[in-house]
Amino acid sequence: MSTYWARRAWLPDGVAEHVRIEISHAVITAVSRDEKPSGTALSGTIVPGFANTHSHAFHRALRGRTHDDRGSFWTWRERMYAVAGRLQPDSYYRLARAVYAEMVLAGYTSVAEFHYLHHPARGRRYADPNEFSCALVAAAADAGIRLTLLDTCYVAGGFGKPTEGVQGRFDDGDAEAWAQRFESFRPAGELARVGVAVHSVRAVPAEQLPVVVRTASGRPLHVHLSEQLEENEECLAYYGRTPTELLHEADALTPDTVAVHATHLTGTDIAALTGSWASFCPSTEADLGDGIGPARGLADAGVRLCLGSDGQSVVDPWFEARALELHERLASGQRGRFDAAEIMAAAAAHGASGWPGLGSIAVGQGADLVHVNPDSVRTAGADGPGILFAATAADVTDVMVAGRWRVRDGVHTGVPEVARELNTEIGALWQ
Ligand SMILES: [Zn+2]
Repeated sequence: MSTYWARRAWLPDGVAEHVRIEISHAVITAVSRDEKPSGTALSGTIVPGFANTHSHAFHRALRGRTHDDRGSFWTWRERMYAVAGRLQPDSYYRLARAVYAEMVLAGYTSVAEFHYLHHPARGRRYADPNEFSCALVAAAADAGIRLTLLDTCYVAGGFGKPTEGVQGRFDDGDAEAWAQRFESFRPAGELARVGVAVHSVRAVPAEQLPVVVRTASGRPLHVHLSEQLEENEECLAYYGRTPTELLHEADALTPDTVAVHATHLTGTDIAALTGSWASFCPSTEADLGDGIGPARGLADAGVRLCLGSDGQSVVDPWFEARALELHERLASGQRGRFDAAEIMAAAAAHGASGWPGLGSIAVGQGADLVHVNPDSVRTAGADGPGILFAATAADVTDVMVAGRWRVRDGVHTGVPEVARELNTEIGALWQ
């Protein structure tokens, strides 16, 4: 058993002072407040580990490289395909290890990897057809982050269109072949789990959706949903239904479903999502000019909110958490659309990635803790839960995942030179 004493800790009922936390076998076994120092003292504020519920690790190679000539959506997309065309399992392992280490440094303790880069080329397979999946599992294990590998079905290049070009690397042929490959993969290690994803209603024809739903069988099922208005318009023209209606008819909207983005929705769509999750990715939605989704409306309809770094233009859970509220303020012209507890619940919603029993500092919860410096130039003077509106990834000093410190004094214990590795791997991809 390990004992920690924190000057402040974000507990389920608010920020408390002088908190003692006991941990045994990667689980929190006791929490008490107003205690005298004992065990290992932590001079700052402890918050629950953050959940990154939507990630494409390789998009990290696009950061700062899609803004020339102002950078349209198409600049971004063309370069994303360029990177997807070059990655191999070994280079993706090295890139993803550095990206996941960057996430842990920022305070993320789980990541849901929406993984669609499966094959060497159209119609070809690696000796192990899940070689990329294995590379991502190894990368996450080395970075010490909990991983939910969401094996993504991507078998069409648009409504009624085959995949083309680089998309051939994503394409298993059809959903049945995708399911067969997925069923043959089970990751090793305590920190890895699997789920499934429908890339979008553009990439999986309606008649093949039931195969993915059946294959999920109680595991997380994630889907990009109505990120851009164009998807809605094309879906209505092709099927006479919105993307949400199409998923609803396929019984794809369950308590295990995570609708990613959920930006452009009708009132009927919002009602259909009740009981599911919505993963907002505010930094990416801003970067791509997607728009601002109806976060408050979804929450009021009983949709659980969670957050993701998606395109990795920013890897900072504090930024995403604040932006959930700040984007609502911009869209509504009102402050206080979410209270601090609601924002933290979304930021630490590991359940969306199939990790229930994580996300708060309470007895019985997994021991994922983030120690933040309350005395930096950014956080100095912030009061109690106000740290959520002041801190950045740069203020995280220590991170514990499953009872083990993976970051100490701002340094990742397994990947000590994250920036150098990112530079090397991203530089090689663009050469
Ligand atoms: Zn995405």
